[in-house]
Amino acid sequence: MTRPADSAAVLDLGFVRLVDFMGGDRGVVDAARVSYGGVSKGEEADRKLIVYLLKHQHMTPFEHAVFKFHVSCPIFVMRQWIRHRMASYNEISARYTEVKDEFYIPSRWRAQDVKNKQGSVSAPRLDHAKLTGLFNKQIKACLATYRELLEAGVAREMARMVLPVNAYTQFYWTVNARSFMNFLSLRADAHAQWEIQQYAEALAAFFERKMPWTYAAFLTHVWTGENSKIAAQRQAVLAGQAR
Ligand SMILES: Cc1cc2nc3c(=O)[nH]c(=O)nc-3n(C[C@H](O)[C@H](O)[C@H](O)COP(=O)(O)OP(=O)(O)OC[C@H]3O[C@@H](n4cnc5c(N)ncnc54)[C@H](O)[C@@H]3O)c2cc1C
Repeated sequence: MTRPADSAAVLDLGFVRLVDFMGGDRGVVDAARVSYGGVSKGEEADRKLIVYLLKHQHMTPFEHAVFKFHVSCPIFVMRQWIRHRMASYNEISARYTEVKDEFYIPSRWRAQDVKNKQGSVSAPRLDHAKLTGLFNKQIKACLATYRELLEAGVAREMARMVLPVNAYTQFYWTVNARSFMNFLSLRADAHAQWEIQQYAEALAAFFERKMPWTYAAFLTHVWTGENSKIAAQRQAVLAGQAR
């Protein structure tokens, strides 16, 4: 599908778009203070409260801030994403609609990491143009067969079986800030596949925009991952605090 104007681009054809949002930093503070019938005590005290909650793992107040995203990503990314159970999902149906000619084509090929069995490493010596040519040829063949099956009268739910997992899918993802932080801890990290890290980085930008106090506290006191973009944000937050 055409990338919506208000979305953040991810990978070659994907995006994340914030559809709806509720709560925010104040929502977290209000939820925490309702325990003892209190109200906001001003920005400084509220920010300190958020730090306190995160440092002491009092996480339920963060469940009162909720993000709803529209996501377009390759199926293999969504397979990893959907393992995050503390969220709500609704995905486009390839039984109901025909799959479009939208496939993720990596801009660079990575080689198998020999130390980390799940990982990959950059591979400048690979013949990238040749590998991309090989890859594209197979994608085109899969798509052509898919269309032939449909034209022959095969049901969409069966014809799709010939399609590869780099086909783009779309879904709505509604997640509270607690689960969102868990997602970012696990996926904005070098142990996660590079492609889902790109989504985590894009999502983090929405988190920062909508919940700046929580995001700063999360980076400072919770996030310990390896991801250069998020690490740079963390450095900026720490530098700001030192001033
Ligand atoms: C680098 C990496 C590699 C991975 N490799 C694999 C793999 O090879 N195979 C594979 O299957 N998965 C793999 N995963 C997925 C991983 O096992 C988790 O399913 C995924 O990261 C979601 O994490 P989560 O359970 O914390 O999140 P959520 O499902 O959102 O859960 C959030 C929290 O709720 C609690 N919770 C949720 N469900 C339960 C429950 N049933 N019982 C008790 N507490 C619960 C836990 O505290 C959990 O942390 C990998 C994940 C990463 C980041």
